Amino acid sequence: MSRGAEAVAAARVWPVAVVGAGPAGLSAAVTAADHGIDVLLVDAGGAPGGQYWRQPGDVVPGGRDPDGRETRPHAEHGGRRLTTLWDALQRHRDSGRLTLLSRTQVWQAVAEDGVFALGLTPSPGSPPGPARVRAERLVLCPGGADRQLPLPGWDLPGVMAAGGVQSLLKGSGTLAGRRVVVAGTGPFLLPVATGLARAGAEVRAVCEAGRPVGWARDLAAVAGVPSKLVEGAGLAAAMVRHRIPYRTRTVVRRAVGTEELEAVELVRLGRDGRPGERVERVEADLLAVGWGFTPALELGLQLGAATRVDVDTSLVLEVDERQRTDVPGVWVAGEACGVGGSVLSDLEGRVAGAAAAEDAGAPPRAGTPARAIGRHRRFARSMHRNHPVPEHWADWLTDDTLLCRCEEVEVGRLREARDELGASDARAVKQVTRIGMGWCQGRVCGFAAACLTAGLEGREVAERDLRALGSRPLAVPVTLAELASLPTGPGQPPQA
Ligand SMILES: Cc1cc2nc3c(=O)[nH]c(=O)nc-3n(C[C@H](O)[C@H](O)[C@H](O)COP(=O)(O)OP(=O)(O)OC[C@H]3O[C@@H](n4cnc5c(N)ncnc54)[C@H](O)[C@@H]3O)c2cc1C
Repeated sequence: MSRGAEAVAAARVWPVAVVGAGPAGLSAAVTAADHGIDVLLVDAGGAPGGQYWRQPGDVVPGGRDPDGRETRPHAEHGGRRLTTLWDALQRHRDSGRLTLLSRTQVWQAVAEDGVFALGLTPSPGSPPGPARVRAERLVLCPGGADRQLPLPGWDLPGVMAAGGVQSLLKGSGTLAGRRVVVAGTGPFLLPVATGLARAGAEVRAVCEAGRPVGWARDLAAVAGVPSKLVEGAGLAAAMVRHRIPYRTRTVVRRAVGTEELEAVELVRLGRDGRPGERVERVEADLLAVGWGFTPALELGLQLGAATRVDVDTSLVLEVDERQRTDVPGVWVAGEACGVGGSVLSDLEGRVAGAAAAEDAGAPPRAGTPARAIGRHRRFARSMHRNHPVPEHWADWLTDDTLLCRCEEVEVGRLREARDELGASDARAVKQVTRIGMGWCQGRVCGFAAACLTAGLEGREVAERDLRALGSRPLAVPVTLAELASLPTGPGQPPQA
């Protein structure tokens, strides 16, 4: 984006601003522009696409390769839907209807003088852009992050989040290891394992903690989304082709190594959900662990939007059938209002983009994907029911297992906080242990710390536990200079 265009982006009040250009945000922004409304799309990434449609770093809309040819999204990273949205995005940019601010992170969202103000900071390594933009309406589509559970040895180099491993592979073709174990729960383990195998890794096992046969109880939910069946069949065939062993009811209870990962210890879960006695050691230099995803709630929470606990125990932003939150002028689409896959995110983005555009004065158009959304949500609920975080996952933690990696707080400190200092909920535990107060602000350890705290009290994790470790006054790290440059004085919003 040119300096002149950046100045325009900062000076005007946009009818609609969309945060995040993954399947949800890209779809919302293009839909709003299709309705004839001017849209600002802000995204932390270098190219639109988010996690699922992540492109190699040199592929950007309107970009040129070294031979002068226009860069196009890779088909295997998104297919026809991405190409359609990519072309529509370009068309709307060329006509001036849509402005894209890439490599730009929104660190703050506040309501200010009847409009919303977004505090911006460049993504790491990117040149500075506008510091602040304003919009009458916001569509928040920030997606989520890998959900992590600690295990002994998980801080060894070579233990990585499954989504992170996948992002490296898609974004730069980097293979994070050669002898790999993929573990955790959910269908996402399969594309990670087969992608690694296709790129040349030896995948020694996929360890699925759940019992996928449970899907048989939910045939109606599965049949409602035939594309998932086709995708599942393709992944199963790839697993067979690459001879990847698939072990159910199996978890990694320890990562072993001195300087880096050397092996993992596998155990089977018994009928009672508890880990068995027999331990199998598998040599590996990469353990990719995935326990689902944690929605990114920072901006919604900053604006005071209501939340609820979803079927997968994630805290999510609450929306109605048009993706509206309880804050007038704020819509949410994609993983931030419930983890359900890229197609659901795309569909919700369409609804949110249309709703925001109509609120801005665009005439309503016929046809909403409400029924398709219903089918995908049913499928997602079934997925979460059949791939829960194992009930007794804390059984394989030891007191010296690291829980908060930024502040170096071990699991045993949680118990001490409760027994010696009376900390009985996540907020109190955070205050006395500093869990979730480091660089990642609880993005990595927050879910686990909230669940462990509730477990020590003998109760289910509650919304207040998840909120305590999910609320962040700064959505991303910013410099002190950026904080100091905020407007101050009477009538200004409270600062972070
Ligand atoms: C690391 C990772 C890898 C994944 N890989 C896959 C995969 O290979 N296959 C699969 O089926 N599913 C994958 N998923 C799940 C996947 O995220 C969803 O199914 C789908 O991409 C969700 O779409 P979305 O639009 O809601 O969010 P996302 O695709 O996550 O898009 C959100 C976008 O918002 C941007 N953003 C977030 N916060 C801000 C902010 N504060 N300011 C500006 N921009 C912001 C992000 O940079 C991103 O571009 C992955 C998830 C993660 C976390």
